[in-house]
Amino acid sequence: MATTASVPMARIAGGPTENDAGCSPDKPCRLTVLGATGSIGTSTLDLVGRNPELFEIVALTAQTQVEQLAALAIRHRAKVAVIGDETQLAALRELLAGAGIAAMGGEAAVVEAATMPADCVMAAIVGAAGLKPTYAAALQGRRVALANKECLVSAGDVFTKAIAQSGAELLPVDSEHSAVFQALAGSDAAAIEKIVLTASGGPFRTWTREQLAAATPDQALKHPNWSMGAKVTIDSATLMNKGLELIEAFHLFPVGVDALDCVVHPQSVVHCLVSYKDGSVMAQMAPPDMRTPIAVALAWPRRMAAPTEKLDLARLGTLSFEAPDEARFPALAIAKAALRRGGAAPAILNAANEIAVAAFLERRLKFCDIASLVDDALEKAEKRGLAGDAGCLDDVLAIDAAARRLAVELMSRY
Ligand code: NDP
Ligand code: MG
Repeated sequence: MATTASVPMARIAGGPTENDAGCSPDKPCRLTVLGATGSIGTSTLDLVGRNPELFEIVALTAQTQVEQLAALAIRHRAKVAVIGDETQLAALRELLAGAGIAAMGGEAAVVEAATMPADCVMAAIVGAAGLKPTYAAALQGRRVALANKECLVSAGDVFTKAIAQSGAELLPVDSEHSAVFQALAGSDAAAIEKIVLTASGGPFRTWTREQLAAATPDQALKHPNWSMGAKVTIDSATLMNKGLELIEAFHLFPVGVDALDCVVHPQSVVHCLVSYKDGSVMAQMAPPDMRTPIAVALAWPRRMAAPTEKLDLARLGTLSFEAPDEARFPALAIAKAALRRGGAAPAILNAANEIAVAAFLERRLKFCDIASLVDDALEKAEKRGLAGDAGCLDDVLAIDAAARRLAVELMSRY
């Protein structure tokens, strides 16, 4: 059974730290954005573009969208632009010709970008592909604004150890974790009774099992509240996202598994509920726009403006809450079991889920089979002795690769 292994509170909460990277016009924040062309990356750069005096862009990275990367690098006067897909390096060089921006390509170059001198690294690569560069950024002892939840899910102990040893500062970007981070600030960890993350319930919240069985990628990609990348949007539809987020919360906050829970809140206005022993419950509210948690992470311990819709509770009228239905959405229970199992089970869960989500998006797997495939992979991995502890990042990467092979192998049964 997993035990508490969170980052010390001082590393993720509280007032100014020795790093005090929060941006101000007197001291612009040197910022690197990993995954600059994605949903989180472009929202981050939207904030940068609106507050140019607060930031200097060091490096921007992308995997394949070379034209968008070059345009962003030119617009934000980045020092370096990195394309993960090395075959596109020549195109990147051509697009940046004469702009005074260095072009680099390949997986190792993305990792190198993560370690360039900067005050803050926004870790917004999707999936386990974000592990190596985000880990490299953490080892530098700087501020890591963490959007990539897979890092804490797959490599939680290894990653939090690197943060603690290097003196890096971890600021959660995932909206629920940013909410908890804000609701906890300054509190005594011993006084926390429960941390509850909210879930929108996704596009299929009210669907029957029969409807879910026929759900298509187009339907699953239509999230009612949030605009996000494809992978996390599908995870929201299966509720795997909330399972991954409970694992993420376990590593971020100083509470045990039993003190973590989630509740469905279809309006996505309340993002967390932190209960204290004295009966107080601190909720964080904001309209569903990722630019708020991104701004919190970039500016902390200060605050910066974000151009989001202002919350109008009188207009909203109703905020509702309901228990998640784990019978219709089994991914949540599967993720909770992996968290309790500990060891490499969360890494296997994540790897199998990435394979399953990609197959669903390519119409090779049915919606309800996403959770079944992940469950099968976890069971098989346990039998094959893959679920033991991972001592270092290479162990995590090896387990991730083995779990992917296993999930692909099992896919033939579906
Ligand atoms: P997107 O799919 O929109 O963007 C992913 C980014 O990562 C792109 O810049 C992409 O480049 C890059 N990328 C993809 N594959 C690789 C790879 N193999 N190596 C290096 N870079 C790669 O994702 P999101 O922005 O939605 O999500 C990013 C992370 O943040 C995820 O972990 C997600 O769970 C988390 N998150 C996202 C939220 C959201 O609102 N979007 C909310 C909370 C958490 P290219 O564009 O060239 O393919
Ligand atoms: Mg979230």
